[in-house]
Amino acid sequence: MNEHLSAGGVATSAPASPAVELRNVVSGYGSTTILRDVSLAVPAGTVVALLGPNGAGKTTLLKTISGLLRPTAGSVWLGGVDATTLSPNKRAGHGLCHIPEGRGIFRRLTVRQNLALQSHKGEEMKAFELAADAFPILGQRLNQQAGTLSGGEQQMLALARTYVRDQRIILVDEASLGLAPILVDSIFAFLRRLVEERNVSLLIVDQFVQRALDMASSAFILRHGEIAFEGSAEAFKDRDIFSEYLGTGAH
Ligand code: ATP
Repeated sequence: MNEHLSAGGVATSAPASPAVELRNVVSGYGSTTILRDVSLAVPAGTVVALLGPNGAGKTTLLKTISGLLRPTAGSVWLGGVDATTLSPNKRAGHGLCHIPEGRGIFRRLTVRQNLALQSHKGEEMKAFELAADAFPILGQRLNQQAGTLSGGEQQMLALARTYVRDQRIILVDEASLGLAPILVDSIFAFLRRLVEERNVSLLIVDQFVQRALDMASSAFILRHGEIAFEGSAEAFKDRDIFSEYLGTGAH
């Protein structure tokens, strides 16, 4: 934590830079603008939920943070570093890990090969151990082609990347989509574990709004590419927020 001097000359702790910060970001696809003047921060070591109806721009926002999309205006900051023009790889070097919707694994490769690609050079064995520690089933599936795993196991393989590479800023897009309730439980248990054991900063998009809010300290609602509401997770106990901004009850 940074130290600075207060007006009285006493050393105090300055707040750490946010893990992620968007400042007045405009972003989209070609000439189609999706995000309009979005500002948002994920304070270091916290969980923030990003909510919003289908098509609001949540995935677009995560892609803009990870560098898959470049903003046409505004800036993206990672841990106090201006990352706006950095490649996705360089952003990963700042501890960022984006688990995309649809998982982002190599389906034709085995679990072992996927984990080897995720690991740092020379640390493949450690990666297998860590993955099996995170999700024991992966340890039993090392030689299986990733595309033949169940949906839940594929999601576990995708999430194992965060643990294997010890990434500290994690963007998770719809990790529970299409999974049976018991698997959703284990995905959320893993995310909680990352927060508690590794002190990661997490920006989570999930259809299970209430589960995401249960983990989060604050949340943003995106609507038509703009932040329509932001507040502490506590503020979201007001049911009217769901009907007003999301057009639904929480589940
Ligand atoms: P969902 O929950 O349905 O995934 P979302 O909030 O994640 O929604 P996005 O996927 O970011 O929303 O989509 C926002 C808008 O951007 C939508 O209108 C979508 O059609 C559009 N869009 C998404 N991907 C592209 C693309 N590759 N090219 C052009 N438009 C796109």
